[in-house]
Amino acid sequence: MTNHHVDDFIKRISDKIETVSGKTIDEASERDVYVGVASIVNDEIKHKWIRTSDTYEKEKVKQVYYLSMEFLVGRLLESNLLNGGLLDVTNEAIKKIGFEPKRVYAHEHDAGLGNGGLGRLAACFLDSLASLNYPGHGCGIRYRYGLFEQRIIHGHQIELPDYWLKEDYPWETRKGDESFKIHFRGDVHMHKRIDGSLEFRYENTDQVMAVPYDIPVVGYKNETVNTLRLWSAESITREKDYLTSQQSQYYHHLDHKHSIEQISGFLYPDDSSYEGKELRLKQQYFLVSASIQHILRQYKKQQRGPLTNLPEHVVIQINDTHPSLAIPELMRLLMDDEHYGWDDAWKITNKTIAYTNHTTLSEALEKWPKTMVERLLPRIYMIINEINERFCRGLWFDHPELRNVIPELAIIADDQVHMARLAIVGSFSVNGVARLHTEILKKKEMKNFYCLFPDRFNNKTNGITHRRWLLQINRGLSRLITEVIGTNWIQRPNQLISLLRYSKDSAFLEEVDKVKLHNKRELAQFIYDRTGIAVDEYSIFDVQIKRLHEYKRQLLNIFHVIYLYNELKDNPTLDITPRTFIFGAKAAPSYHLAKEVIKLIHTVASLVNYDPDIAGKLKVVFLENYNVSLAEKIIPAADISEQISTASKEASGTGNMKMMMNGALTVGTMDGANIEIRDLVGDQHIFMFGLTADEVLAYYEYGGYNARDIYNTDERVRRILNQLNEGVFGSQEIEFKDIYYNILYHNDPYFVLKDFDPYIEIHELVEQAYRDRTTWLNKSVTNIAYSGKFSSDRTIQEYASKIWKLNQVPINKATDEQ
Ligand SMILES: *Cc1c(COP(=O)(O)O)cnc(C)c1O
Repeated sequence: MTNHHVDDFIKRISDKIETVSGKTIDEASERDVYVGVASIVNDEIKHKWIRTSDTYEKEKVKQVYYLSMEFLVGRLLESNLLNGGLLDVTNEAIKKIGFEPKRVYAHEHDAGLGNGGLGRLAACFLDSLASLNYPGHGCGIRYRYGLFEQRIIHGHQIELPDYWLKEDYPWETRKGDESFKIHFRGDVHMHKRIDGSLEFRYENTDQVMAVPYDIPVVGYKNETVNTLRLWSAESITREKDYLTSQQSQYYHHLDHKHSIEQISGFLYPDDSSYEGKELRLKQQYFLVSASIQHILRQYKKQQRGPLTNLPEHVVIQINDTHPSLAIPELMRLLMDDEHYGWDDAWKITNKTIAYTNHTTLSEALEKWPKTMVERLLPRIYMIINEINERFCRGLWFDHPELRNVIPELAIIADDQVHMARLAIVGSFSVNGVARLHTEILKKKEMKNFYCLFPDRFNNKTNGITHRRWLLQINRGLSRLITEVIGTNWIQRPNQLISLLRYSKDSAFLEEVDKVKLHNKRELAQFIYDRTGIAVDEYSIFDVQIKRLHEYKRQLLNIFHVIYLYNELKDNPTLDITPRTFIFGAKAAPSYHLAKEVIKLIHTVASLVNYDPDIAGKLKVVFLENYNVSLAEKIIPAADISEQISTASKEASGTGNMKMMMNGALTVGTMDGANIEIRDLVGDQHIFMFGLTADEVLAYYEYGGYNARDIYNTDERVRRILNQLNEGVFGSQEIEFKDIYYNILYHNDPYFVLKDFDPYIEIHELVEQAYRDRTTWLNKSVTNIAYSGKFSSDRTIQEYASKIWKLNQVPINKATDEQ
């Protein structure tokens, strides 16, 4: 359906609105148009979707299942239109019937089923899998409440529930007949079979139904439509069974039903941190058990031979340790249901599951109390225990040199189940998400495991889908790129490198400048509409958008703002290039210090934005409720991308890639993928500063550095900290005391003061560079040119060839279609 004429498409939309909403096109609301267009897209997808799964089934191709507790997909209508080759015609049609396309698409509620980078990565991977014709599917949870909606009231973060299913979600299909039973708690009984093997029976378990809701994943201008399968928890007993029973029982039933539905009730809002909550453990097992049962049932239905061949047909990638119960669950199903012995089951499991590590932050490493696992998942606990026993026994006998570190390697130690250890021992591949991160895993965090299993460890630097993060969100820049280098870059993002030839072409640079200015003007309007703050579209748009976390150091950024403010107060005639500092960040609801930083940003904003001495040279904007759709608005307008994590702490980052691809220059530390960006573009096209990971890790080894020394010797720092402590930034004196104490009395664990001076200095270079437009634009284009490496297409190709051993399976066009 590529040669749609606009008028034909209008006819199609109006027919659709008539059947779906019962209105004529003249009566249709914006929402009716949204519903109508979404329904047309579904009609277009339907046959491809069936044909894709038929092909995978008939050709018995190897498939990857990407198991993740989070899929941060955002909106789908515009990207489905783009990938389906219908975006231009739809935009034209919508305009012609008197609506604004962006406003129509905005009727879709963001699917916020993720916290941040990890969940967004999963969504980008699905897009690349489908676009590259790989047979790959996502498995996740259909949370009824996504990540909370953030409101700011008087500078404080307020969390509102995100009931994203309030209106009909057009992309999901319930597949009630493909449900599975999930068992919790109960007793495990062991019986000897006649042949002497052991049989395990479960009794008195709590049973929950896992019901799949499928979402299509549309490939870019191909015939592939893969599946994102999200599981929903439902009660097994039917309502009508209770109609005749006594009232007390009925209410007991409702109570029970509610507690079951809680399992897919909400997404835990903690990013890069871990809390040992039983409901979260239930969610993890729920996802894993439903997904593995589904995988095995498909395998058997398709008659792919004995399950010993499973690793040739299926690979399961687990996104962090959250789904690592996949290991004992696959063991359980193979042994208890399929009657394999331990050794066979272990071989199959170990060759099927691969693990991606996302962090070395100790507060994020999952450890479950062993009593909790034992009570909630008795059979799973038995299996984990057996895996641990065998692993430790192997260590003792085969690696006498490691005997004294067995407690650091054991899966069960100090009454806790260590999920990362389980994941490493039970899988055939362990990958980090950027080169530095993988090196830290191998040389520090997982050194002993690396010695044991050197072949398991590998790196797969993260990526982002350039289709959404460039082609879709920055139409102006995309058009410009295509004008000079043609359309090849869309299929092969590495071809963006051809832009280098134009990186000094003044006519081209001028056009790039115009596009950026246009994008900044649009964002300025959005900022004004949302916040009432008028920002100068010619100012430097200095952007930090990401979850709020101490290691990401939004504090360092706001200290820079305070420093500039102090400078201007001392000398109001100071000639500085106007700057607009743009923040977007959600803090975990229980993360006190992070919330204090949000309050500080707002307090500084209210001081800076309206101070006549500042005369509009500085503006501070906090855009509330940072999510995928907000990111899509901000990123095309960014001049500066703030990637200033404490070196060694940010495993990869992907926000850095999105902004680079849209021509922003990075101000960054030598951390995560920033290093790989620098290696490509070269030092003259990026602003790197601060401690290296080696330096940070060396300080940690010797108990940190002395923050107070810097407080004593650097008067700029002293002034800022005193302003925090003395209430200069607020009416209540105590407001920012915790930030103050954390730096001076907990010795600045994230090296904010240590990196302060180099950060100020690098920003002075930024300012100088910005004044030279041509050089700046050259840097900007150089960044775009090299950004192709960070397409998730490259990442997925690497996973497919190196870990998954997966082939591309193009889907044939239907023969009966015109
Ligand atoms: C890309 C993205 C992230 C990850 O950003 P980082 O800067 O890598 O932490 C988080 N949230 C959203 C909504 C994103 O789109």
